[in-house]
Amino acid sequence: MHKWLGLRRLVALSLALFSQWSLASLSLLTEPVQGALVRATVPAGSQVSYQQQKIRVSQQGEFVFGIGRDELGSRTIEWVSADGQTHQQSFEIIARQFAIEKVDGLPPKMVNPDPSLAARIRADAANARKARERNDERLDFMQDFIWPAKGRISGVYGSQRILNGEPKTPHYGVDVAAPTGTAVVAPASGIVTLWQPDMYYSGGTLIIDHGFGVSSTFLHLSASHVQAGQRVEQGQLIAEIGATGRATGPHLDWRMNWMNVRVDPQLLVPAR
Ligand SMILES: [Zn+2]
Repeated sequence: MHKWLGLRRLVALSLALFSQWSLASLSLLTEPVQGALVRATVPAGSQVSYQQQKIRVSQQGEFVFGIGRDELGSRTIEWVSADGQTHQQSFEIIARQFAIEKVDGLPPKMVNPDPSLAARIRADAANARKARERNDERLDFMQDFIWPAKGRISGVYGSQRILNGEPKTPHYGVDVAAPTGTAVVAPASGIVTLWQPDMYYSGGTLIIDHGFGVSSTFLHLSASHVQAGQRVEQGQLIAEIGATGRATGPHLDWRMNWMNVRVDPQLLVPAR
């Protein structure tokens, strides 16, 4: 009970800090919750560091960073304004509750993949990582994101299954269930950095880079309408929903990254 009260106080404190920020010259445009892609601004011409690491900032002062699912505690943003003055602001990450599902009594083969597939799975992951390495000047990530597909939400970011007592990798995307062939459109503009039709887990996989290290990944696609290297605009048809890879039925799994940090796409689009 004491623990719970402590947590409540912490959340209230960080919310109070957050609401004050619009008065300062640093503005967070996003609440700093676990899984958030936080878009923010400082006065034009400033340099920005997040957790002592210099990060990209536009000439107008826009920048972005991601908060991972399991991050907690305080974070610091430092900026040096055009006049050479150093400013600092800290905030507390706001905790969320994620769904945990326990499934016991499964045959061991279903819990861990066949070791002979390990090399292929590693190669897929390396290709995806490489496609997300870009850190372009483009500000496509500042757009108001739109849903990439119509359909029922059948899975959410952060949920985790514990199979036979073994915690599995949390789910990092938002799933939209819809028939194979349903249109997938670009949730924001960007550059296509990967299209691979047959990854082991994710099947037809497409990645769009939105600039500043922010990217969208779309899994289980049945077809792509674009090619790597191509510029796409928000709302443009990019692919079709499918059930390729390890999917139990046709759905779109939409994931987002800031560099290697996996963030929650659902926090960027209107509720539905
Ligand atoms: Zn999924």
